[in-house]
Amino acid sequence: MHLLIKGGRVIDPAYGVDECLDICIENGIIKQLGRDLDIPGAQILDASGLTAAPGLVDMHVHLREPGFEAKETVSTGCAAAAKGGVTTLVAMPNTRPAADGPDIIRLVREKAAPTGVNVLPAGAVTAGQKGQALTDFTALKAAGVPALTDDGVPIQNLALLRQALLQARALGLPLLDHCEDRDMVQNYAVNEGTVSEQLGLPGRPAIAEELQIMRDVMLAEETGAHVHICHISTGKGVDIVRQAKARGVHVTCETCPQYFTLTQDEVLSQGTMARVNPPLRTQVDVEAIRTGLIDGTIDAIVTDHAPHTAEEKAKPLPDAPSGMVGLETSLALALTGLYHSGLLPLGRVISLMSASPAALLRLDKGTLGTGRDADIVLFDPDAEWVVDKNQFVSKGRNTPFHGRTVRGKVKYTISQGNIIYQEG
Ligand SMILES: [Zn+2]
Repeated sequence: MHLLIKGGRVIDPAYGVDECLDICIENGIIKQLGRDLDIPGAQILDASGLTAAPGLVDMHVHLREPGFEAKETVSTGCAAAAKGGVTTLVAMPNTRPAADGPDIIRLVREKAAPTGVNVLPAGAVTAGQKGQALTDFTALKAAGVPALTDDGVPIQNLALLRQALLQARALGLPLLDHCEDRDMVQNYAVNEGTVSEQLGLPGRPAIAEELQIMRDVMLAEETGAHVHICHISTGKGVDIVRQAKARGVHVTCETCPQYFTLTQDEVLSQGTMARVNPPLRTQVDVEAIRTGLIDGTIDAIVTDHAPHTAEEKAKPLPDAPSGMVGLETSLALALTGLYHSGLLPLGRVISLMSASPAALLRLDKGTLGTGRDADIVLFDPDAEWVVDKNQFVSKGRNTPFHGRTVRGKVKYTISQGNIIYQEG
């Protein structure tokens, strides 16, 4: 069975491809890229006017199952991923029970299998994400985890973290860290600054993130382990990573559309919808995140897709849970904020959302090379639309981007040769 994608602009950053080509897919694998391909009997997909890129790789997603199915399930989360052009995602382990052993990893993978989205659950670093005893990294790796993380509850015991890094290094697994010193941020709702003052609330200071990034960089340098900084949000944090990379430390980092698009002021108009950890910061930080994306300090754009129920987000700001959904808006927000604004060429935005995260996780994904899995997103980079949370297929409606006009729309998502999303 052949599928022939005809007439699209093919962008494959891994091989430096950016030209109008046809893509021939056979049995879920990319067979050939070429001009004016003619394959008798093939199913034709007309991609004229569209861009064909590697299926997006989102290395930071909360699918919530098992344990929090009112927020999201593996099935609804994967539907949202497909709609957003994401064909591979890393699921965070803060479920109930936590993904701290091979059984939960296998459960999530089994639930994801029918969706067609390649779900790779990350393994918890500590049992129950309690920060006390390390999990069995060898068993987790055997179950297929691409990385280890206690995202959401960062490890504060440095002796334990150092042990974790030494073991992770021996197994070739990166450790993904949510950098915020827990004592400094408590359960506070917003960035420490003008907005927290205006609201009369204690804030989460930027230094809480920067100190932990510095700590992690030093431990990465000393242990030789690969530390990946999650959802970086502060300018000084980007500076620390830039300097560490320059001296050869194995550190990488990611950011999210909210951190290069929004500031803390959003909390004043959007309330709990703009509550996220780390918090939205200042315009200076937004500019620094953009600079970090431009100069290559930041390796990946992820969503930190964090669905919550309407009831939870209806609580007062100090009590509501943190997080926002992102899978159905990330490509459009990245194209709008980085490409259409003239900051980055289209190929670089694509790379940050596919080839680059795939490479840092050592996944055989994120490229349209022949012989690789036919994971492809077809999108109209110029199509203008208005974000409408009521149209989301995610259970989560918690977004501060509702009503925002964006450019760039996913038309088809193909995973291993199967069309898993088609607009309309
Ligand atoms: Zn996090």
